Amino acid sequence: MYDIDKIYIDGQFVTPRATETADLHNPSTEEKIGTARLGSVEDAREAVAAAKRAFPAFSRTTKAERIDMLKRLNAAVAARVSDLTEAMALEYGAPQTFTRFAIRHAASSFLTMAKVLENYDFERRIGRARVVMQPVGVAAAITPWNSNIGFITSKLATAIAAGSTIVIKPSEMSAMQTQVLAECLHGAGLPKGVFNIVNGLGNVVGAELSRHPDIAKVTFTGSTAVGREILRSAADTFKRVTLELGGKGPNIILDDADLDVAIPAVLRMGFINSGQSCIAGTRVLVPNRRLDEVLARLKQETERFKVGAPDDPDAMIGPMVSQKQYDRVQSYIGLGTREGASLLTGGLGRPTGLDRGWFAKPTIFTGVNNQMRIAREEIFGPVLSVIGYRDDDEAVSIANDTSYGLQSYLHGSAASRMQALADRLDSGRVVINAAPHEPLAPFGGFKQSGIGREYGVFGLEAFLEPKAIIA
Ligand code: NAD
Repeated sequence: MYDIDKIYIDGQFVTPRATETADLHNPSTEEKIGTARLGSVEDAREAVAAAKRAFPAFSRTTKAERIDMLKRLNAAVAARVSDLTEAMALEYGAPQTFTRFAIRHAASSFLTMAKVLENYDFERRIGRARVVMQPVGVAAAITPWNSNIGFITSKLATAIAAGSTIVIKPSEMSAMQTQVLAECLHGAGLPKGVFNIVNGLGNVVGAELSRHPDIAKVTFTGSTAVGREILRSAADTFKRVTLELGGKGPNIILDDADLDVAIPAVLRMGFINSGQSCIAGTRVLVPNRRLDEVLARLKQETERFKVGAPDDPDAMIGPMVSQKQYDRVQSYIGLGTREGASLLTGGLGRPTGLDRGWFAKPTIFTGVNNQMRIAREEIFGPVLSVIGYRDDDEAVSIANDTSYGLQSYLHGSAASRMQALADRLDSGRVVINAAPHEPLAPFGGFKQSGIGREYGVFGLEAFLEPKAIIA
């Protein structure tokens, strides 16, 4: 049993004031594997006070000092990749294909931000004015369970680069990963109070950070519903907010796509992180005239996607994180059938051979129209909807007919045609032919997928206030 009973405030591991705990489970076996002691409102307030005390000195550190800190943070996290991977596998159940990418990406967030900082000018001349980019103040970061380590490191890296101090509230379901990460970050020897980590419930610690008058900015990754609540609480004190919310990404196969390449890519993007991903391409848009051929290939390839626990190196899809998430996915699979869609593959229940663990079957619905709830709502599991389209104009229109706008995918052969289509998609990112992640480019959503952008210069500037000094 793992008992996580510490949080991190003012440079030290301390015991939360409250005694309430949350159970931690291994989603591959459903067994209870430990508990996490939850922080209280008082703990959140102490963390904010520590970050506030640290802010004046930290905000005056030089670029070189902060680059050095970012490099130390990178080294500290990179040194414990295997412990972080183990914690993520045990507590979250992600397959090795995902943990390999996620942990490497998490450690590299610090180096990527160091690179941005090296090239960033905090002062510029605009007409008569000297415009200075000043750190926004004490920030709060609130993160979800589906890639806990990466969200913490990218938000922390950006705050450090900007010269802001920060209080981090990770998902209460990610306490083991957070513990290992906090030990790494502590080892980097940053001044006390610069970052603080308070485990706790969203409606307790998260809510306190979203309304606390000494928090100048909230950076949140999570559901659209909680994002809306945070935005409301933040309004009272006009906090700056960056919200990275849900998605229902179109995964568009064009009529000139080479299906040998496109089908595996469509499924990788659809089932990414076991489908528990805001960027998953869950609406597969297929030209009507190639529908039969595409459906046959989708079915065949999906049946090759192995579902299993993270100790199976061939598993491509792991369990859902919790019983609640498993039930949610099952309820959407049931809903799809009731709405009149047909199952191409998958369906209710666990995959054959897996009789315990919150494993769902990779499922594809056909005969879906874009008004069905399975096409409009974020399911957050390995469930895809295939929607036919007539021509490029109709593909764009279906793609944009959603309240979300986070990440879209195009698969085809003609580069200039795809660039032109990308210009017409209302989405924070458009990925052509499964291009690799670009950590320096902005990330974030149109419409109800969020407000603001993270990563690179756009992310950095979201932690800065411009000040014009006119002489
Ligand atoms: P969630 O919104 O339930 O929780 C996210 C975080 O918010 C957790 O730390 C939670 O404790 C906290 N929280 C809950 N209620 C709160 C409140 N009232 N005030 C303040 N904080 C509160 O999301 P989740 O279930 O952990 O994660 C899944 C969701 O996250 C999905 O909707 C997914 O699309 C979204 N997500 C978005 C991105 C992105 O970058 N756009 C990335 C990953 C996940």
